[in-house]
Amino acid sequence: MTQPAGRDATVAVARCDGYDLEEVDAAVRRAVDLVGGIEKFISPGAKILLKPNLLQGQAPERCVTTHPAVVAAVARLLTEHGCQVVIGDSPGAGIVYSEANLRRAYLRAGYAAVAGETGAVLNYDTGSRTISFPEGEAMKQFSIITPAAEADAIVVVSKAKTHMWTRMTGATKNLFGLIPGLEKPVFHFRFQDEYAFGRMLVDLNECMKPRLQIVDAVMAMEGDGPQAGSPRKIGVILAGSDYSAVDTVLARLIGMEPLEIGSIRSAVARGLIDPGAVRTVGDDPLDFAVPDFRKPSTYAGGGAGVWRRVVLAVVQRFGKTYAPRPGVIAPACIGCGKCERICPVHAITVTEGRATIDLSRCIRCYCCHEMCTEHAIALSQGLTGRLLARLLG
Ligand code: SF4
Ligand code: SF4
Repeated sequence: MTQPAGRDATVAVARCDGYDLEEVDAAVRRAVDLVGGIEKFISPGAKILLKPNLLQGQAPERCVTTHPAVVAAVARLLTEHGCQVVIGDSPGAGIVYSEANLRRAYLRAGYAAVAGETGAVLNYDTGSRTISFPEGEAMKQFSIITPAAEADAIVVVSKAKTHMWTRMTGATKNLFGLIPGLEKPVFHFRFQDEYAFGRMLVDLNECMKPRLQIVDAVMAMEGDGPQAGSPRKIGVILAGSDYSAVDTVLARLIGMEPLEIGSIRSAVARGLIDPGAVRTVGDDPLDFAVPDFRKPSTYAGGGAGVWRRVVLAVVQRFGKTYAPRPGVIAPACIGCGKCERICPVHAITVTEGRATIDLSRCIRCYCCHEMCTEHAIALSQGLTGRLLARLLG
């Protein structure tokens, strides 16, 4: 097995048992040094967009957002290297990309304090630019938030989480946050299965070419991520330059087959990565693997047997029939309308303070579930779906 020329599939694994600032600092520096040191990726004085998972800004202990200690450690490393660091993201899929929403999200996620401590600047520019990408397979251009378009380089500092739609989110999916908030639902409408969505994510990463990936997998999210899951310790920081290689290591740590992840499969199909050639340096990932990491309730997969692949193909082809359906938990719904705004097919209406879902229109993208901070959207599977889930183990 060989890695395609010009791409480095080396991924550093550095133990980190908690979010003590000194421990995180040491783990981040060790991880980056293991893959060649910061100077290998970033020129001194460069203007950097530091791109965390900011998703609506949640308290760090909920494990929805990249922990501020990790964001701070990477920001410090970059500022010591002489870089100007801007922290930016367009958080969440249906959130209006406004200064007020950014301010609230930064505060909740602990990034306002990070900026104060490290000299990094929080982005409040809510503009965007169109970036052409003629070689894209799924997209020929992207609308990208201004700080990403203006940066000399992008450094991604992502949170390791499960994801109801893409199965997991780490390095590759993080970059979807460069798409301005209310433009995101269009992508869910256009790329209605996770593999098509993965092809788009690979285009986005190839277009923006982030230089360095750091993954906060100290405390990850298992279960119904990226918002409604539970914290689970993995205890590592990952670092590398290749988004698919980093995600390959993360998938294995949480007991998923890398090729089950749409974006990794797309990168393999394009000859951008050979999962068999991904190599780790530093600590042994086997010491941190969590094989019983709880998968999202939409997850179907695991083994590679022929019959299982056939059943999975059927599930993918008729996904809407078998996939869990969203439903509103009436007592929990406060009628905020976030789900109504995010739904790419306008299947949700909020009347008299309560959301209702027209399942005949729903494409099972789970954006509403991701968006609802009240946990008022439940996902349930019909009888056929439950039978298939049992068959697939
Ligand atoms: S289901 Fe959630 S997001 Fe939708 S209106 Fe109710 S509380 Fe808001
Ligand atoms: S109602 Fe269906 S299509 Fe609309 S956001 Fe929810 S899961 Fe997606």
